[in-house]
Amino acid sequence: MKTLVWLRHDLRLEDNPALYRAGELAEGVVAVYQLCTEYIERHTIAPARLDFIRRHLQILAPQLAKRNIPLVVARVDHAADIPQQLLQIAQQHACTQLFFNAEYPFDELQRDRAVAEVCREQGMIVKRFHDRVIVPPGMLRNGQGEPYKVFTAFKKKWLQTVMPLRLHPLSAPLKQPAGDAIESPDIDAVFKPFPQRDLHQQWPAGEVEARRRLQRFIEQDLHDYQTERDFPAQEGTSTLSPYLAVGAISPRQCAAAVLAANNGEWDTGSDGVRCWLGEIIWREFYQHVVVDYPWVCKHQALQRHTEAFPWSKDHEAFQAWCDGRTGIPLVDAAMLQLKATGWMHNRLRMVVAMFLTKNLQIDWRLGERYFMSQLIDGDFAANNGGWQWSASTGTDAAPYFRIFNPVSQSERFDPDGEFIRTYLPILKHLSNKQIHRPPPTQGYPLPIVDLAESRKNTIALFSNLGAA
Ligand SMILES: Cc1cc2nc3c(=O)[nH]c(=O)nc-3n(C[C@H](O)[C@H](O)[C@H](O)COP(=O)(O)OP(=O)(O)OC[C@H]3O[C@@H](n4cnc5c(N)ncnc54)[C@H](O)[C@@H]3O)c2cc1C
Repeated sequence: MKTLVWLRHDLRLEDNPALYRAGELAEGVVAVYQLCTEYIERHTIAPARLDFIRRHLQILAPQLAKRNIPLVVARVDHAADIPQQLLQIAQQHACTQLFFNAEYPFDELQRDRAVAEVCREQGMIVKRFHDRVIVPPGMLRNGQGEPYKVFTAFKKKWLQTVMPLRLHPLSAPLKQPAGDAIESPDIDAVFKPFPQRDLHQQWPAGEVEARRRLQRFIEQDLHDYQTERDFPAQEGTSTLSPYLAVGAISPRQCAAAVLAANNGEWDTGSDGVRCWLGEIIWREFYQHVVVDYPWVCKHQALQRHTEAFPWSKDHEAFQAWCDGRTGIPLVDAAMLQLKATGWMHNRLRMVVAMFLTKNLQIDWRLGERYFMSQLIDGDFAANNGGWQWSASTGTDAAPYFRIFNPVSQSERFDPDGEFIRTYLPILKHLSNKQIHRPPPTQGYPLPIVDLAESRKNTIALFSNLGAA
């Protein structure tokens, strides 16, 4: 019984349950990756991310071929045609089973249901596995049997569930019996119609690179993570998010490796381990949220009463924010980091998201979409969760009255202006004190908004919305 393994955001050999289980049967495996035009447009997939996916497939194809697993890479224009195209590929390769790893946002769940139905109607066996999270959505419930809305309670339950387990990442799939000669897929031709941005120097592709980054992080930064992670000028975080987003590494591989660096313990030993694993749990939390509160996948606020907030439609201010021309140096430097690298430090994502929603009062959905169009690590659940948290519309959201002041954040987390100077050389000459609040400077804009006034106004508008 040959198996078709449908790859999506799981572009690795190791610890890939769908590939591993298919390989275990040793009856022949074919892998397929579909690039869907409609998905790319609807989900504003960033050119940097598309290129990153393409480079991963180029690495994966020969690795799979060494195991006698051909990789088919196909383009499909309409999402509605995905099931038929997959079925055809399965039939061409005489596959009678379809295995894949689950994805959780609403569109993806619908797509996978449609595929399973079409394949089962034709007598195929369809199996779904979980690799994107350590604990699959739906498994963690509070005392009343309800999903969690608050992270701390979710985290407690997650730890109670996971810590007694031994996390054993799976090895790469077994070599399959030799079949016909394997042709290399023309991956570049499939990706050619879409804009791509090559950032290979900063973000080399592949699971070996992902594991190297994890190892480097464990050896150099993990144990100081809780004190270093908030300073954007320092390399205090793992920079694994692009690799987790395309699935070049799994959260289970990450958690197993950091726990091993702390004698398998969570609550004793290294504070860095505790703190970093906490971030992996945040990631899992948001994956659960999109399943438990599916309307967040339809551009709606998790806390429905916040839909009444009168978001501004100031296109000029929005464009100034996108282009890093707000006159607030930390915000501008952060937005320029995003443009230059396809990535932004977590502290800065919170600062710029709060600035957009709380000072400019611009709809979080515009910011969410812009981030997706730029981020190499764009992940619907994490991005939506981060935006709704910052806008105080989501689960466990920042209380609306606790608004970051981007200038105080700058003084606190970039005290010498090192990060600002990297992305805004025009302010290089200013003193460490001035750089956070520049005097009128030729070529650099004055602040486009009064921080104190807009803050007061936002709090008043939120308080008028009443409670959930
Ligand atoms: C407005 C906003 C938008 C965001 N959009 C995304 C996104 O599209 N994709 C994405 O992966 N992350 C997103 N994040 C979360 C976070 O900013 C990034 O995961 C982090 O900056 C990645 O850097 P790192 O890999 O060095 O993280 P580390 O600090 O080393 O953390 C390790 C891993 O934990 C996960 N993680 C860390 N913080 C968070 C968090 N707050 N929420 C969810 N997962 C987290 C990531 O997978 C990360 O790689 C967003 C946060 C905000 C506030």
